[in-house]
Amino acid sequence: MPNPLFDALFAPLRGQDRPLLHLAGGGQVTAAEFAECVGRIAAALKALGVEPGDRVAAQVAKSPEALALYGATVAVGAVFLPLNTGYTAAELDYFIGNATPRVAVVDPAQAEALGPVCAAHAAQIVSLSATGTGSLMDLASAQEPLRVPVDRAGDDLAAILYTSGTTGRSKGAMLSHDNLLSNAEVLADLWRFTKEDVLLHALPIFHTHGLFVASNVSLLTGGQMVFLPGFDLDAVVEALGQSTVMMGVPTFYTRLLDDPRLTREGVAHMRLFISGSAPLLSETHIAFEARTGLRILERYGMTETNMNTSNPYDGERRAGTVGLPLPGVELRLMAEGRPVAEGEVGVIEVRGPNVFRGYWQMPDKTAEDLRPDGWFITGDLATRDADGYVTIVGRAKDLVITGGFNVYPKEVEEVLDSLPGVAESAVIGVPHPDFGEAVFAVLARGRDGGPDLDAVRAAVAQRLAKFKHPKGYAVVDALPRNTMGKVQKAALRQSHADAFR
Ligand code: ATP
Ligand code: MG
Repeated sequence: MPNPLFDALFAPLRGQDRPLLHLAGGGQVTAAEFAECVGRIAAALKALGVEPGDRVAAQVAKSPEALALYGATVAVGAVFLPLNTGYTAAELDYFIGNATPRVAVVDPAQAEALGPVCAAHAAQIVSLSATGTGSLMDLASAQEPLRVPVDRAGDDLAAILYTSGTTGRSKGAMLSHDNLLSNAEVLADLWRFTKEDVLLHALPIFHTHGLFVASNVSLLTGGQMVFLPGFDLDAVVEALGQSTVMMGVPTFYTRLLDDPRLTREGVAHMRLFISGSAPLLSETHIAFEARTGLRILERYGMTETNMNTSNPYDGERRAGTVGLPLPGVELRLMAEGRPVAEGEVGVIEVRGPNVFRGYWQMPDKTAEDLRPDGWFITGDLATRDADGYVTIVGRAKDLVITGGFNVYPKEVEEVLDSLPGVAESAVIGVPHPDFGEAVFAVLARGRDGGPDLDAVRAAVAQRLAKFKHPKGYAVVDALPRNTMGKVQKAALRQSHADAFR
């Protein structure tokens, strides 16, 4: 009897006396131990009354048990719903109310504060701590491991993953067994994963990058993971010596580059560095290669689709691009209802087995973004060159329209980023009485002091058409980013909304 995702990722671990997870501080979990833990948590979920199709929400620290909870939820045919550990009780009220899970697993320290939220939406609350203790594990350890997973079809839901909320309220993306499995298979193949690989896993597991791209690919191919609770520079530098692949967000790479311990010798054991979730600056790509001799492989995806494009493993990994559509994924760039010409900017649309089944409880939003013929409108703007390489130039929602002209923030940011005293920049549109919107630039100060704004204005005047010039500047210590390294442009637009009023 099939349970596609469980059969591919978790069933093969049973009884295997080999290391699966290497933990910070030197501990280790074997595949057999992990499978046993999955089985016991699955039995505990059943004991809590979880039925196929029920949601199991989890706002818990990253741990082997938290990953096992994912496997256990899939085993009982339920829908895994991980939540950002940064969400407050008030924010959680939205997610729990929207998803109405049967069970909510929370940190023991939060259990009291979240009790009323869970009770209000009839979710049973159990706890799981960063060290694998709590009422869920108490219950699990008293169970016989579940041996036979619940039957599921390929188009049954395995997870609801909420989007990061970068552009607005987070939406729950409904992901089926086939969505997740097909993407893991394609990526494992494309990136040449084998059971010899040791994946350096320092990403959170409440987001598609750490949970699906990283964990699914590694589990599918029978490899091992160095499973760190988060990005700790010392721990990551040390783990580089025993790993073969790392997946990271761009900030992982900039932080590594800031450390003299990142050397060619230090990464001699690594075969691949992958980046995604936010744009990797070309200069980071180039600096990383100069330091280590290895070219970061950048890929592009989103909660709704898992991964869509990737730079090639063997072919050229082009800095500043997200590569080519994955095998099986169709991609087109659209503007005004038709595909754009080569080199022109359009909205990325994708279609394929990876594309989600719609937004949970949001039929209108689903109808808006997911066309009846299967094309999903991503909202990301991009160009494509003659070789098919896709370059993301920003999000449609971040496009600035000033006095009737379109300004793509990335083009202006690239100019600003290259100037002395600017570590990085974010270009946004803010309300303006004459132009509707005006281009506004937020500059993060470099380490050796901030920029000279007169020099910035002069450089911009030389390199960009007048309508693209920022009409205002703010200099800050650092750009606001979320845990996945995404610049929070909506927050910036809010804080500078009155710049010209
Ligand atoms: P929300 O949809 O709630 O506004 P979000 O889109 O940030 O939030 P995610 O699904 O986590 O939520 O992120 C997907 C987005 O991340 C993509 O649509 C794209 O804009 C961006 N992204 C992912 N990888 C890359 C990349 N390699 N380069 C540039 N942008 C990327
Ligand atoms: Mg999005």
